[in-house]
Order: sequence, then C-alpha cells, then structure tokens
Amino acid sequence: MRLDKFLANNTPLSRSEVSYQIKLGNVSVDGIKATSASQKIDENNCNVLLGGRQVVFCKYVYLMLNKPAGVVSATQDKKQKTVLDLLPSEYKKLNLFPCGRLDKDTLGLVILTNDGQGAHKLLSPKNHVKKTYEFECIEPISQNNVNQLEQGIELKDGYKTKPCEIVLKNDTQGQITLFEGKYHEIKRMFGAIGNKITFLKRISFASIVLDDCLNYGQFRPLTLTEQKVFEE
Ligand code: URA
Repeated sequence: MRLDKFLANNTPLSRSEVSYQIKLGNVSVDGIKATSASQKIDENNCNVLLGGRQVVFCKYVYLMLNKPAGVVSATQDKKQKTVLDLLPSEYKKLNLFPCGRLDKDTLGLVILTNDGQGAHKLLSPKNHVKKTYEFECIEPISQNNVNQLEQGIELKDGYKTKPCEIVLKNDTQGQITLFEGKYHEIKRMFGAIGNKITFLKRISFASIVLDDCLNYGQFRPLTLTEQKVFEE
C-alpha cells in the first residue's frame, strides 16, 4: 500500500495534508525518515510514526450511529440528508456505507462500515441475523395480535413473514425482534392486523446493542468485541 493512502486511511489527515507532513520530515517508516508519499509499505508489518506517534493500521472501519429521524440510510442522495452526511468530513475518504437500511422516519442503530464482505455476510437472509426494535402503535394490541405477528403473518402482497418475538411494555408499546429484513416489514406487519406504527427505533443488530450514551446523530467506533460479529 502507498504510504500516503495508509496515513490518510488511518489518521484524520487528507492525502495532501499527509504529503505536507512527509515534506516536513514528520513521517518515518521502520525508523527511516520518509521522503516520498508514493513509497510502498507493508501495512500489516511496518512501524509508521507521524510526529513521533505510531499509526495503527485498521483494515476496516466500523461505526455505530444513533440515526435521527429525517435522514436516509444511503451513501448519497440528491435531495435528502444521508447517514453519511452526519459524519465529519475526514470520514468521507473511507467509503463507508450503512450495513442494512432503516426507513427515513425510523430511529436508532445503524452500523457504518467499509467491510463489504463482512456486511454482506451479516445481511445475507441465510444468516437470520436478529434485529430488535422498540415500537409504539396507535391501536391497543391484543394477545391474539401478538400470537398472529409472532407466528408470521400474511402481508398485503401475499408474503408470509418469518416468526418473530414480541415483548409488550403496555398495550401500545413494546419490543419486536425480527430474524429477517423485508422492506417496511414492521409497519406492514402492523398494517396487516389493522394497526399503525407511530414510533420505531432499532436498539440492537446481531449482538451489537445501541449505546445509550449516544444522542441522535452521534456515533462512535465499534469496540473490538462488537466488531467480532463481522468475522463470525
Ligand atoms: N421495519 C420497518 O417497517 N421499518 C424499518 O425501518 C425497519 C423495520
């Protein structure tokens, strides 16, 4: 990998800022002062110092975002604000994308990464990765409704949903855990029992739980333990 790419990917600096730091003599590779931004390095096996501090190589970036309402789960959109627009500009160069989608009005946990293979594995329908949401609906839900939804319910388009789990907090609020991810699935499931979702927030994805220290719009890197779901 080129030295400037390595530094731009693993520090907040842009490539031109990296070149400037190299020119200033502030970068060394394995103890030797770097003179060229295009110098090739072995990213898995080298000791790069920037201003005397070691730069650690991270193959991929994984962030946990608490998505606010009104933001789309896309990498770009001509008219609407995207989840990537919530990140500072130094993250733009990392080619991040949301690992799975939430509706524009759904809140909560979105994982942003540039690990295409890991995300593909997690999102594959074969893997039945669980996702838990807090919900609120307009009409009171009966035990019969809960049974219908939990067993799987036929949607308007004829699709029968896979079994899910519901824990009620009261008769219009609770948590629902899905093991698949279809377009507008929870809203359509509640529509199928003559009800309507008025609040939806994802609070977990696989074993990753939304950090309650994050306000809407805030993010943090996944811990090494949280990142493990991308390796499994
Ligand atoms: N189900 C929905 O209806 N919307 C979401 O954003 C996620 C699950």
